[in-house]
Amino acid sequence: MIDLHIERLWLANNLRNYNYIAVCKKTGEALVIDPFGTRQILNAINDNGWTVKAVINTHDHGDHIAGNDAIMNATHAPLFAPLNAKIDHVDRWLSEGDQIRLGESIVFDVIDTSGHTLPHISLLSNTDQPELLCGDTIFNAGAGNVHSGDAEILFQTFENKISKLDDNTRIYPGHDYMQTNLEFTLSIESDNQSARAMLDQASRHSPESQIITTIGQERTFNTFLRLDEPSVINGLAELGTTPSRKAVFLALRALRNQW
Ligand SMILES: [Zn+2]
Repeated sequence: MIDLHIERLWLANNLRNYNYIAVCKKTGEALVIDPFGTRQILNAINDNGWTVKAVINTHDHGDHIAGNDAIMNATHAPLFAPLNAKIDHVDRWLSEGDQIRLGESIVFDVIDTSGHTLPHISLLSNTDQPELLCGDTIFNAGAGNVHSGDAEILFQTFENKISKLDDNTRIYPGHDYMQTNLEFTLSIESDNQSARAMLDQASRHSPESQIITTIGQERTFNTFLRLDEPSVINGLAELGTTPSRKAVFLALRALRNQW
């Protein structure tokens, strides 16, 4: 039996946030990730009889921390957040290599995934099917913006962390940008059949039931994981024929800002 369940809550707001609750199905212990939709989270916890072990923030943007105090007051759970983040009332600071236990056997590794903000962490489960709670680092078919971060550091995170994940790792990003990002892929790689097929599938889902993708799938339609593909390089003609992986990543990130 698989003990870990990831509850995804769609907030139906303009920013298109998802909130997540990681739950040990055996013990009912739960971790609340990036709370913003306070009422929905508390309803899910109460309806299911879960016990919140900790509230965890991936980064310090308002739409990922605004519900901290309400959830902590209602559940008496402590707050964990990335070291050096601008967040109040933190009980435990997290950095690369730390581990968070959930229930009897589930362990999440803390990974430094800085770039969208400095700092930014993601949580990767030790389960047979790894689950990655990635905040605003990787999105379905996309990458986090760097308006308050650093594009070169985000490139290093993709290069050294995200692209090295096992293909069967499922991703749980902080926002639903699936359809817009797939359209961005097709604006660069118009012949990407995988992006076209996923856009066709995704367009038949509401955000509540949107497809959860794996890193293996992302490698086929997320341009930020396709830096060596001739079809991506050809779509960025100004870079010439043999640009560095970093140059491709930075060009994609800049293009996505204006797109
Ligand atoms: Zn953010």
